[in-house]
Amino acid sequence: MATDDSGELPALFRRFPELRERVAWRRIVEAPTPVVPLSTLGRRFGLTLLVKRDDRSATPYGGNKPRKLEFLLAGALSRRSRRIITFGARGSHHALATALYGRQFGLRVTAILIPQPDDPAVRQTLALTRRHADRVALVGSSPVAAAIALRHWLLGVVEDGRPPTVILPGGSTPLGTLGYVSAACELAEQIAAGEAPVPDAIFVAAGSSGTAAGLLAGARLLGLPCRIVAVRVSDYVRVDAAAIAGLANRTITLMRRAGASITAAPLTAADVEVLEGYIGRGYGYRTDEADRAARLLAESEGIVLDHTYTAKTMAAVLDAGTTGRYGRTLLFWHTYGLPANEPSGTIRV
Ligand SMILES: *Cc1c(COP(=O)(O)O)cnc(C)c1O
Repeated sequence: MATDDSGELPALFRRFPELRERVAWRRIVEAPTPVVPLSTLGRRFGLTLLVKRDDRSATPYGGNKPRKLEFLLAGALSRRSRRIITFGARGSHHALATALYGRQFGLRVTAILIPQPDDPAVRQTLALTRRHADRVALVGSSPVAAAIALRHWLLGVVEDGRPPTVILPGGSTPLGTLGYVSAACELAEQIAAGEAPVPDAIFVAAGSSGTAAGLLAGARLLGLPCRIVAVRVSDYVRVDAAAIAGLANRTITLMRRAGASITAAPLTAADVEVLEGYIGRGYGYRTDEADRAARLLAESEGIVLDHTYTAKTMAAVLDAGTTGRYGRTLLFWHTYGLPANEPSGTIRV
């Protein structure tokens, strides 16, 4: 049940109207996000570079998480949960987005957070998560996090009289991944309207991989001939081509079960490429080439990247621009949400 009928529905429901009555959805995203050329950089490489600006996906906090949360939080509300329990690292954009938008929908959010390399951006995200979450538990490692989660779950049952909804790190379940199937539908509409050419390749950061998997599933379902290139930035979870194809297939299965008529063949590891060379020392650690890519994008295009995800992805785009290996039209999917026009990163709610 799409309970929000004001304004436009997500592109997923325009392409698969059968899903509209069967999949819960609440509006968070201001769609469509712009798809625009990176002209200065493109000229430098002599090719067409585009950016899909999901940094502007929502107010007051954009990035890739709002697209997933439109389905995840709607699912929790339709089950009448009053509380969400979720996980991440200390500076998790997912934990912050869940706390912020969960609260807007009247849900209490418990965030269970494991360590990551400390820096000002991490501290600021954590401070904002503390402000919007109902409870924040800082734990030392993921086995302890699982035990704490169980305690919080039971506490939630006692306090709220209802079982809380658990949302896995990054929101990368098939339900959350639907958000990026919808994003692929949105890009296909923009291409059909002549707002952008068909990219030869789409470059996207892969942490918990729902973003890449949703784009992969969407490209297959829509017949978009774009190579999905996932840049691995996490070593907390398994990130490889088979895992991404598997999540894409489970998402397509969910759509089929919800009534979508789909004939597409299953995806395999050969349908997606995972680039391994950009993670550096690990999740959250800076790399020189990512720092360079972030500086270049700020100077040439005025676009702000983060060093954990998008700067490492942009470093891969720059290499692809140099080698020409992925074709002449490349799209960088911007997934980082702090608004560029608020350099202090202060979120006003
Ligand atoms: C969470 C996040 C990602 C990774 O998305 P997944 O779907 O978890 O792979 C990429 N970029 C940014 C800025 C993020 O916060």
